[in-house]
Amino acid sequence: TRRIETPPGSTPSSSTPPSSTVGVLFDVDGVLLRGGSVIPAARRALRKLMDQNQNFLFPVVFVTNAGSCPRHHKAQQLSHLLDVQQVVLSHSPLHMMETFHNKCVLVSGQGPVTQIAHSLGFQKVVTVEELSEQHPLLDMVDHSRRPTSTVSPAIILFGEPIRWETNLQLIVDVLLTNGRPGCVYDTRLSAQMPVLACNMDLLWMAEAPSPRFGHGMFLLCLESIYRKMTGRRLEYEAVLGKPSLFTYQYAEQLLRQQNQNHKLSTIYAVGDNLMTDIYGANLYNRYLAKHHTDMMSDTKLVAQGTDTLVPVVEELAFAAQCRSILVCTGVYNPHSPLPVDQNVSETMVHGENDLKVEPDLVEPSHMVEDVEAAVDLMLQQESPNT
Ligand SMILES: [Mg+2]
Repeated sequence: TRRIETPPGSTPSSSTPPSSTVGVLFDVDGVLLRGGSVIPAARRALRKLMDQNQNFLFPVVFVTNAGSCPRHHKAQQLSHLLDVQQVVLSHSPLHMMETFHNKCVLVSGQGPVTQIAHSLGFQKVVTVEELSEQHPLLDMVDHSRRPTSTVSPAIILFGEPIRWETNLQLIVDVLLTNGRPGCVYDTRLSAQMPVLACNMDLLWMAEAPSPRFGHGMFLLCLESIYRKMTGRRLEYEAVLGKPSLFTYQYAEQLLRQQNQNHKLSTIYAVGDNLMTDIYGANLYNRYLAKHHTDMMSDTKLVAQGTDTLVPVVEELAFAAQCRSILVCTGVYNPHSPLPVDQNVSETMVHGENDLKVEPDLVEPSHMVEDVEAAVDLMLQQESPNT
């Protein structure tokens, strides 16, 4: 049973330290915004987090699963903050995946996906719409930009498309022909081409009374079709967006950059969704703990072997822990909690080797009423007087 904590108000100190031991990740929808408007507590919360010069007391990064679709334009409401600060969208960690940047990639989604792909570093981008126009004569690895033989194609799924059947059909065509949709299917294909998927949310809250299908639902369709056609499971090279580790690794990298590359000890992750924000933060906390244990035993081995203590650079980079804070202003309602698996995509469960979601991982470190209470709690926990 969860209990709403009501931390006493806390006043931030007046002097801003040159580097912080604390970093904060804020979810956007349901935490700072609801529908199209800013949650009142969000203004107060952000004010409390700032010094007299309007600078954040701690490194702050906004992490949202919104991606290429118009949803994320709502974030413009906080533009005076969000424009200045760093925002991690579900596809942002693709920046790090440089091995794919020179590959010919098929992109699926809506909105300016080509521009987004280019901005992330991808050089050879083909959209499903372009493929559709050129089908059936097209060979996506041929045409005017025939790549060298070492360049292999990949598929990037940014978000839910407008015409699902077109994208489902053409993506399956590309998968089953290894990037040559003009050819007949090769069901003996030994290796599947790499698929990178962003944002696995099954449902999302719009203006309609009930949640709408999200990209996770599209992935679910693609997975079932692929399994039906091949008898095999669709494998993902990476799944991005909360709760995936990539997103938290990327977000921590940004926090550290804001912190003059100094290591943080605690990351607070504030969100309204148990299955993305809380599960993701707890999974990352588990990863950090394992990482530190591994590093400790490695250090010991090295130390035993050489009789000298070897500083481990890697260990310095990662935070010690990630604490999850659940707020009650969005998807989570303490009075009528959704079944825990309501918003679990098969993708996510697949990613975890078919394990059922562990109850521990959807249990927040703290639960508070709203983001202002979350900020009070952080300030109280990090106050040197406690
Ligand atoms: Mg949210």
